[in-house]
Amino acid sequence: MQTSSKDIVVYYHPGCLEHNTRGHVENPGRLAQTIDVLNSFGAWKVADLRGHAPASEDDIDTVHNPHYRLRVRDLCGRGVGMLGNSTPACRQSYKAALLAAGGALAAVDSVVTGAYRRALALVRPPGHHALPDMAMGFCIFNNPALAARRAQLRYGVKKILLLDLDAHHGNGVERIFYSDPGVLYCSLHRDFSYPVTGWVEKTGEGRGRGYNVNIPLPLRSGDADYRAAWDEIIAPLAAAYRPELVLVCAGFDAHAGDPVGGMNLTDRGYEWLFREVLAIAEKYAGGKIAATLEGGYNPEVLGRNVLAMIRQWSGNAGSEIKITGKPKKETSQVLEEVKKVQGETWSCFK
Ligand SMILES: [Zn+2]
Repeated sequence: MQTSSKDIVVYYHPGCLEHNTRGHVENPGRLAQTIDVLNSFGAWKVADLRGHAPASEDDIDTVHNPHYRLRVRDLCGRGVGMLGNSTPACRQSYKAALLAAGGALAAVDSVVTGAYRRALALVRPPGHHALPDMAMGFCIFNNPALAARRAQLRYGVKKILLLDLDAHHGNGVERIFYSDPGVLYCSLHRDFSYPVTGWVEKTGEGRGRGYNVNIPLPLRSGDADYRAAWDEIIAPLAAAYRPELVLVCAGFDAHAGDPVGGMNLTDRGYEWLFREVLAIAEKYAGGKIAATLEGGYNPEVLGRNVLAMIRQWSGNAGSEIKITGKPKKETSQVLEEVKKVQGETWSCFK
């Protein structure tokens, strides 16, 4: 892959717009409007924009059951409207889902090979709910899990920190890496929201015990709650794990302006989070971050926060951001529970 003077690349393919969900909150307009914002506000001065190939069937089978893949192809080909659990589809959805997965793979390839230090796959359908054999929660193939598997299989990456910032728990990612210590999955999500998974006690199994970290935050958690979770759980875990690569489920539905997520992060809170992700990557992983777009259902909020993320990760961020204020009492209680449960594996919590 040719190198660039820029630190960050954005992968986007208009084929992802062909996944026509007919007025659903997860619709082509989310992505189209985001690209418009990036075009209008000078994103390409600091980032490269590239197209990418679809994932191959063999790529998909590194995470998914081949029978499931064939079933998706068949159902989409017949023009069914839904792929089961809350996942709309059309005739083009199989192709779009292969493209979305391909964007995630391109993002990993570009950062692991050193072509770029950061990569963002602006793709849809999203991925983090998809199970090995089932579509779920608007997701068909599990883009972030495919990205992590690519890093493991093709590049031999041994320690991947996968940070899930979406307002919902990434149950698919959890399931896929539940017994794998090579992927430390940390999810910040709203307690009792879809798909009602992500409990503190689910810490992984076998050799993967302690490598699944769920932080279920109360309804309407905001900047101070996320900061507390970061400072008390994520940052110490990252220091103990020392990842070689940071992957991010970039979900924007935890923003106060999102119609679905039920959280209260502000633009400033998101910027702070992206800066902290960068700090972890710079400290332990040679600055390497590959992110895939997950949720975010207010196109205006999505566009301007994706732009802010690109600016942060391009090294063109503004001055330091301080998040003040105290977390909710319930948040502090959850964080104590997480420390207690994860303290069985991680001495930083003892
Ligand atoms: Zn979500």
